[in-house]
Amino acid sequence: MNKKSTHGVFGLLLPEIGRALSDAGYETPTPIQEQSIPSLLEGRDMIGCAQTGTGKTAAFTLPILQFLAKNEKPLVSRKPRVLILAPTRELAAQILDSVVQYGRHTKTSHAVIFGGVGQNPQVKALKRGVHVLVATPGRLMDLINQRHIDLASVEIFVLDEADRMLDMGFIHDIKRVIAMLPKKRQSLFYSATMEPQVVELARTLVHNPVYVTVTPNKPTVERINQKVMFVAKGDKDKLIIDLLKSEKMNRVMVFVQMKHVANKVAGKLEDAGITAAAIHGNKSQGARTAALANFKSGKVRVLVATDIAARGIDVDNVSHVINYELPKEPETYIHRIGRTARAGSEGEAISFCCAPERNYLRTIENLIKTAIPSDLKHTLHCDLSMNATGEDAKPAPRVQRGRSQAPARSSNSPRKQSYGRCQSRSRSR
Ligand code: AMP
Repeated sequence: MNKKSTHGVFGLLLPEIGRALSDAGYETPTPIQEQSIPSLLEGRDMIGCAQTGTGKTAAFTLPILQFLAKNEKPLVSRKPRVLILAPTRELAAQILDSVVQYGRHTKTSHAVIFGGVGQNPQVKALKRGVHVLVATPGRLMDLINQRHIDLASVEIFVLDEADRMLDMGFIHDIKRVIAMLPKKRQSLFYSATMEPQVVELARTLVHNPVYVTVTPNKPTVERINQKVMFVAKGDKDKLIIDLLKSEKMNRVMVFVQMKHVANKVAGKLEDAGITAAAIHGNKSQGARTAALANFKSGKVRVLVATDIAARGIDVDNVSHVINYELPKEPETYIHRIGRTARAGSEGEAISFCCAPERNYLRTIENLIKTAIPSDLKHTLHCDLSMNATGEDAKPAPRVQRGRSQAPARSSNSPRKQSYGRCQSRSRSR
């Protein structure tokens, strides 16, 4: 996002909040922030039609933090003052990250609760008392039923990604939550789409709302030349080295899911004589800053990053984005490829897809409503990856505790193939 002025609606925020924005390198509000922050600071309800990637999270988090800072009250056990409901754990965790980041110079206390992990640490935090609670609907209902949460003191309620909530079947949970909220409250409702069912739900929640609509970043995405390359998992290093050696890619961001993969890929590239640096959460701030400076100056050609580490990084003239691993959350794909084609320039995004990632690609294509063109000509092209379906098209389940534990693969349904290497080359997508 462009960084020209330090003014706009950010000037309405308390100095301690402004300081956190400077720490994050934000200087200019995004359009949704420009449009929402003044009304939200006045306590108005809101219906926002906006997607992730527009700066929506800060648009609602900043006024919430300001409200809490200006209306301090002692913490009350089990009774949050702000409830933010999100459909997925990933989104809930990301929202909490924003609350932590923007609230770092305030006295806000916060917690996130979601399923799939043990509830005890969550219950402990609630018992101590939090100002801001970020939650997914299932775990929220569980803990309400067990009387670990009481919504009677909620002053601000945010329902994020309402359309996805409905798609995921959370409507009954949401209605129950709304029924438990105090009548006097501020309500914020966000959805990427506004089909009738969504509007109907919004009506039950808000009172005399301000409407804010932000057109998704379509034009940028349209300027990006997207391509997918189906490849065996074990051939990804060869493929990336091959592309970087032969193509004119001068400033390349490579995205991976895991920190150790970032290190591995950067190492392999360096071994192949391609200048590269890795950034991820295990690197010290100093190491991250240095890697970024070297990438910006052109000293290193390739920056390998995890999604979390890449958040908030703003580099112009990225010629190519390579998705060495596809993201689990389809919205992340849009964030990633948006790193190229900034400031009106054209960009290219190449995604590697091996068999266990095949379903991620399908979800991404559903979200962007486009089949990403595939490059079948490369010698490392792999039909097995391209045509994977069923269990073969999913990542191997990780063992987790809790209610959304993935079922263990039974011994009579083994993976049909080992996808380490690939020989087949027929053409049928
Ligand atoms: P969101 O739509 O809330 O997921 O935000 C998308 C991305 O934009 C996140 O990585 C934020 O850190 C970043 N962001 C939000 N607001 C600003 C801003 N005013 N300036 C620069 N980056 C921002």
